[in-house]
Amino acid sequence: MAGYEIRTSNSKKGKGLFATKKYDQGAVILEEDPLVSCQFAWNAAYRYLACDYCMRPLETPEQNVRRLACKPDIVLPHSNCFETNLESITTCNQCAVLYCSEMCRDRAYATYHRLLCYDTSDAQHPITVLLEAWKQMHYPPETTNIMLLVRILAYIEQSSNPSQAAAKIKQFCHRTVNEDAELVHKLLGEQFADQLNTLRDLTSNLISGEHVQEFLTPEGFCSLMALIGTNGQGIGTSPLAMWVNAVLEITMSDDERQQIDLFIDKLYQYVEEESGTFLNTEGSGLFQLQSACNHSCAPNAESSFPYGNHRIQLKALKPILPGDEICISYLDDCALQRSRHSRQKELAQNYLFVCWCERCSSQSSQPDCTSEEEMSEDDADD
Ligand SMILES: [Zn+2]
Ligand SMILES: [Zn+2]
Ligand SMILES: [Zn+2]
Repeated sequence: MAGYEIRTSNSKKGKGLFATKKYDQGAVILEEDPLVSCQFAWNAAYRYLACDYCMRPLETPEQNVRRLACKPDIVLPHSNCFETNLESITTCNQCAVLYCSEMCRDRAYATYHRLLCYDTSDAQHPITVLLEAWKQMHYPPETTNIMLLVRILAYIEQSSNPSQAAAKIKQFCHRTVNEDAELVHKLLGEQFADQLNTLRDLTSNLISGEHVQEFLTPEGFCSLMALIGTNGQGIGTSPLAMWVNAVLEITMSDDERQQIDLFIDKLYQYVEEESGTFLNTEGSGLFQLQSACNHSCAPNAESSFPYGNHRIQLKALKPILPGDEICISYLDDCALQRSRHSRQKELAQNYLFVCWCERCSSQSSQPDCTSEEEMSEDDADD
């Protein structure tokens, strides 16, 4: 039986995820595959080869680090501690899209790929045209992807019960038209109105049908863009990180441990020199349970991708009691360390809410700015 439920919270936050049993620190609360997921457009263009369905990287840790560090002769020790099943890589029967396994290929085809299968070398194809237009609007660091939106539409249209699938998607939307427009403005920048129309036209060229029409009107499309902007959960996978984690688990002598630690430090140094901080296969996905989790600046849970693909895991960061709300942080670690003012500013801009978590409430007497660094950053934003 599940140890959690989605229900309305007493505060103004609307729905939330609540524990119905006790979780010890470190306990797994839930695991979930997304309704749909998609690798970011530039991430794919930069040769981060991944399964088109589950985002599992299609290279070994050694191939990964050789590519990122531009050092073709790096050899990773303990390479057997981490299994990569590259023999099972396969392609779609009709196009060149790659999958990590036949299972992923079949699931993709059954979920959305039947409507989206196309010749990727065709520069005139509506999907190629949309992707190129998108890449001109949205540069790295990428936060969302137009193809996630397209896959959502295909998921609805291909479903055996399209109205139920559409209802599932609409559960993620709970804002007013003005709020949606504000979020999309933030996502696309100053020219958002023009760009939104362009994206809508290009999307309508590649998918249509009775059940997706409501999402292709100006308001419906804006709301769907806002949905992927706020509910799209970032997904990151890295063969190198998986190997490092596996090596940490191996029992070895102190000497050997020290050597391998130094070796790993050096690897990351090489990688950083060549590839900067863009190390992961990155994309985003739409998760039903995970997206019900509200934000807290003092979260009691965190999510990760322990299987090296798009399957998410939610773990308790501290003991959680029955009735407690399960909260994650929408801010990254760095932003989370900042003052209440900075945290609230970022949450208001990206998610349109004022945070009244325990930590924010207890810091409500803090001044609106706490450091010069934050003040000058604020100026730069404005
Ligand atoms: Zn896969
Ligand atoms: Zn195909
Ligand atoms: Zn807060």
